[in-house]
Amino acid sequence: MEDLAMQVVVLAGGVGGARMADGFARVLPPEDLTVVVNTGDDFEWHGLLVCPDVDTVMYTLAGIANPETGWGIAGDTWAALEMLARYGGETWFRIGDRDLATHVFRTFLWRQGVRLSEITDRLRRALGVRVAIWPMSDDPVRTIVETEEGPLPFQEYFVRRGCAPPVRGLIWEGLERARLSPEAHAALEAADLVVIAPSNPYVSIGPILALPGALGLIEQRRVVAVSPILGGQALKGPAAKMMVELGESPSALTVARRYQTFLDGFVLDRVDAALAAGVEAMGIRPLVTDTVILDPGARARLAEEILRWVASWG
Ligand code: GDP
Ligand code: CA
Repeated sequence: MEDLAMQVVVLAGGVGGARMADGFARVLPPEDLTVVVNTGDDFEWHGLLVCPDVDTVMYTLAGIANPETGWGIAGDTWAALEMLARYGGETWFRIGDRDLATHVFRTFLWRQGVRLSEITDRLRRALGVRVAIWPMSDDPVRTIVETEEGPLPFQEYFVRRGCAPPVRGLIWEGLERARLSPEAHAALEAADLVVIAPSNPYVSIGPILALPGALGLIEQRRVVAVSPILGGQALKGPAAKMMVELGESPSALTVARRYQTFLDGFVLDRVDAALAAGVEAMGIRPLVTDTVILDPGARARLAEEILRWVASWG
């Protein structure tokens, strides 16, 4: 792939982000790829700092992710959670025994004042991941979902309530004071291509783009996004439901429009081939291809196709 050599930064949420990052990890040398991950979903669970999207990306790239759920560790067990339930502790957020060690160790380092970026780097290296994974920020940013039933911290909305309460808006606590992780900043500055993974545009990519200074940096790069909406629906999660509740039409075009000001290319699934003209009308190059990337082969194929496409622009 020497002809396709370029520095790539993937902006990622959890499951969709991890799948796309995995594809690029399979076709690029590790030093040419950086993944910058949403931390708006982070929260404290029984006093432990949990970073769901960072961990999903890290476990996926380490080859230990649970293939059925997309999150958590394959073959994990639940003894700690069962014991917690006996004490009357809340167990609606499920953390497996092996997964628990990640949060214990992360929190241990965090309490000593180690930056989240450094902690993440240590964890991913220990798991044998050669690609750099950076949290979007070392500062806490917390997504609050404004619903018809009032404001809910993200995991209460997403896991506890199963995304049932209709969404009215989103708030990011701590965002004005937060800065891009210095390592994420440097990677974006050096990037030849920024790929926005097929992650939830509101709650996974939204917080990254909203970080002070992030948009200005990204705008200067070549940017391609992969649609998380196929045939008007999300493959998983509330992205399409949120679109409707926020007054937009559930369509890949809505995603393209959100990113319109800085997007050079937009990847649509074949089921949405008819929308390519609409993308072109926005002044964005469309690529219509297979975007369901459940298995490793499909992930690598899509990543390589995107690299060849961008390289062909000259
Ligand atoms: P979360 O943080 O785990 O909820 O995951 P993300 O925000 O990263 O990804 C959720 C989005 O990924 C959903 O809108 C899905 O439609 C999308 N998604 C998941 N798998 C795929 C896939 O194989 N292809 C595409 N195009 N989108 C996907
Ligand atoms: Ca997430």
